[in-house]
Amino acid sequence: MTASPADGTTRPADSTTRPVGAADAAKPGGPAEGTGVTIVEVSPRDGLQSDPTLLGTDAKVELITRALGAGIRRIEAVSFVNPKRVPQMADADAVMAAVPRDLGASYIGLVLNRRGFERAVQTKVDEINVVVVCTDTFAQKNQGTTTDGLIDVWADIAESARSAGLRTSVTLAASFGCPYEGEVPVERLVRVAAKVAAHGPDEIAIADSIGVAVPTDVRARVAAVRDVIGDAALRCHFHNTRNTGLANAAAAVEAGVRVLDSSMAGIGGCPFAPNATGNIPTEDLVYLLHRMGHPTGVDLDALIDSVPWLEATLEHGTPGLLAKAGNFPSAALSGTGA
Ligand code: ZN
Repeated sequence: MTASPADGTTRPADSTTRPVGAADAAKPGGPAEGTGVTIVEVSPRDGLQSDPTLLGTDAKVELITRALGAGIRRIEAVSFVNPKRVPQMADADAVMAAVPRDLGASYIGLVLNRRGFERAVQTKVDEINVVVVCTDTFAQKNQGTTTDGLIDVWADIAESARSAGLRTSVTLAASFGCPYEGEVPVERLVRVAAKVAAHGPDEIAIADSIGVAVPTDVRARVAAVRDVIGDAALRCHFHNTRNTGLANAAAAVEAGVRVLDSSMAGIGGCPFAPNATGNIPTEDLVYLLHRMGHPTGVDLDALIDSVPWLEATLEHGTPGLLAKAGNFPSAALSGTGA
């Protein structure tokens, strides 16, 4: 077993389920090869970016440290965007200077353009994540260019990122539906994925940015995209806007996806997508995965313990349900004390 927590690309050489993405298998008691799912904690970026409460650098670093304490080893920590447009991420450089470095975590920085990339390489991010929006109208509103324009941005950054020794992933935003154009045809998603894959990302994420997907759709799009992305790992990113997020995550895992984004307590959204609500809650997702027989290496009770802290820090409630209901079976019921 060669997979490390920081390397989501290492995959078993052969598997009947043809897993895409990788498991955190280096941790003792961590996921078994083949079934393990790697959680990418996106609360520090996708979660906080659209939260009404502006957190200070120390609180962001504590959020990241708590995720690490629960065993998560890939964290979307910051984005390098125009601070005038996204004030929540203005201290990205300071956050990256303060995050723990002794636990083997892989920190992802989101970049939308060359300028953001130049900032990212000055920090100690381990990975960069470029966003390519699948529809022209959304791309224009979000980033001021077309889908093809964003693919050109990615192509330009790809080579520099590799030379800088950074792992690269590309998120295909609005992979399912667009707030402006409606349904996104599978053929369009596949065309975008193939063009993005041509520039050699380590990983491609298909993102339901506005939370419109359903499980049948997830299965169809995962299969279609996988056919055109070669060796790139496949990751999925779901929002729970219409309460289908966890069902979609289960469908993705059953379709062989082994890397999923989620956000502690289900915080999050997208400031440029109207009515996009939270990411799927990490603790609810981990509960689902463990009960389905997919190890994650994440300590569920440690995650649950952080939810009251997060709610107190944000000064509002959060949508996740597991922390309200409690784990099952509880330590008392199982008699293991664990
Ligand atoms: Zn998102």
